[in-house]
Amino acid sequence: HPFAELGLAPELVAAVRDLGYTEPTAVQTKAIPMAMPGNEEQDASAAGFVDLMVSSQTGSGKTAAFLLPVLHTLLLQQQREEAEAKAEHARLAAEAAARGEAPPKKPRRVNPTQSRNFKAAVPGALVLCPTRELAQQVAHDAIELVRHCRGLRIANVVGGIPYQLQIARLQNANLVVATPGRLLDLQRSMQIKLDQVRFLVVDEADRMLDLGFADDLAEINQLTIQRQQTMMFSATFAPRIQQLAARVMREPRKVQI
Ligand code: AMP
Repeated sequence: HPFAELGLAPELVAAVRDLGYTEPTAVQTKAIPMAMPGNEEQDASAAGFVDLMVSSQTGSGKTAAFLLPVLHTLLLQQQREEAEAKAEHARLAAEAAARGEAPPKKPRRVNPTQSRNFKAAVPGALVLCPTRELAQQVAHDAIELVRHCRGLRIANVVGGIPYQLQIARLQNANLVVATPGRLLDLQRSMQIKLDQVRFLVVDEADRMLDLGFADDLAEINQLTIQRQQTMMFSATFAPRIQQLAARVMREPRKVQI
């Protein structure tokens, strides 16, 4: 399948096939391989990931262009941690058997970034959208794409939805799709911690600035400063977008469609 040639995990290729995508779009062909971990253009200083600034219109397939590489990396991390947990369990079981004891209980599946005692959500990836409608669409697309990924969870954080409903879904989320205002509300009330975010995507950056989110973006940039990769999507590369890019990314590669 052409999406497998982009280096994506089989679970994601299966989801793409279910959705009926036969060929990647132009933005997907260019952006996905660049965004993948350890691609040949990798910059050693960025821990194997490059930052991307992508010009793209709605309808270009931009959503899958950023969701697929992020979900791919989250999935690989989860599979690696599960394999480690399994190996550790096998080791403990062998030790118990040698002592003539019953084997230990199987480890429970846990979100690797979910801390045991603190109830705040601790997502590994964050997608910021300028509007509630776009955030809901992106979250919907992400849910479709993780259909074959056991245990990858998506949450939507937008204004206008009862707080409790959102919190319940948020607890175990690996990827959060949010509008900036509501995200910062939840961060300030300690419902969500952003210090485990490794991937940040800013979708429709030009509309983000039009809607007055510059200060919120600056704050979220600081709260996720430990991240490994940032991608910014925008209809234009106008000077104000370039300025924003310079603030939130390190030597971004430009992808122009
Ligand atoms: P977007 O630009 O992300 O808003 O995507 C526009 C539409 O194209 C969405 O309905 C996607 O489901 C669809 N789409 C995305 N990638 C592909 C693809 N490779 N082949 C066919 N449809 C796609």
